[in-house]
Amino acid sequence: MRTTRIAGAIAGLAVAALALTACNSGSPADPGGDAGAGEEETGALWEVATDVALEGSPTFDNMTERGKVIIGVKNDQPGLGYEDAATGERSGFDIGIAQWIAASLGFGEDQIEYQTIPSANREQAIVNGDIDYYVGTYSITDKRKEQIDFAGPYFITGQGLLVAADNTDINGPDDLAGKIVCSVTGSTPLQRIRDEFSPGDTVEYDTYSQCVEQLKAGSVDAITTDEAILAGYVAQDPDALKIAGEPFSEERYGVGLAKGDTVLQQHINDLFTNGGDVWQALFDLNLAPAGIQGTQPAVD
Ligand code: GLU
Repeated sequence: MRTTRIAGAIAGLAVAALALTACNSGSPADPGGDAGAGEEETGALWEVATDVALEGSPTFDNMTERGKVIIGVKNDQPGLGYEDAATGERSGFDIGIAQWIAASLGFGEDQIEYQTIPSANREQAIVNGDIDYYVGTYSITDKRKEQIDFAGPYFITGQGLLVAADNTDINGPDDLAGKIVCSVTGSTPLQRIRDEFSPGDTVEYDTYSQCVEQLKAGSVDAITTDEAILAGYVAQDPDALKIAGEPFSEERYGVGLAKGDTVLQQHINDLFTNGGDVWQALFDLNLAPAGIQGTQPAVD
């Protein structure tokens, strides 16, 4: 278990204990802390808010009535949204963001239900009201905004390519002639590689980890998606995988919300705007170890 102790106060938060951990076990991070229920892992970075009122937010009304928050996430993207198959433990930057938002709404970790939802099904899950919000490498696009709203952005990355570590002939998206490229159904990178470049062929799966299996098996030549996602796979297996070339798009990650819930949208945007130290702590814990660089973007 790896435990990181963050020195110094987190501005704007009355936090007694600032310990946090990236471990995959379920054990509490902070032996000496006195934060309340739900304190586990990154939970010690913030307090679970009490007496929250969010007048005019139908999503918040649903959560309150239900007594729990339902959050859509990914489960196969290390460093971002990951679920340990053995323990069921969820970890990553997006999970931290999801928990931080829940805490600001008055819901501790024991009041969160996660639903793993693949890229292609996100808008529909939000439109149906199956989830209260979605945090999972979800790029803000005008097309998606026809169906849903976004809070954020809370992170910016760019589309890249993942290849076998010993590959020498793919160094960017212009080198894909005759190559088979794998990506995920309903994702912006799949659309862009088809619209703007000329790969030999594309194959699509529900998840990026399925593409990684195909790449390792040699049945595809490259995977394309956001570099932040690809870097997580490289960190897991640097002997087999590498990122090729430079990013060739801007992917701005937002929190997917029901269309029209501007009260919740504003609440989350205010949380991001005022929570730079929490953001940085989550970044340092989850993304920096994979070599990812970035700073907190301003919200829209
Ligand atoms: N950020 C891109 C998207 O939203 C790719 C990652 C993903 O599929 O979640 O489509």
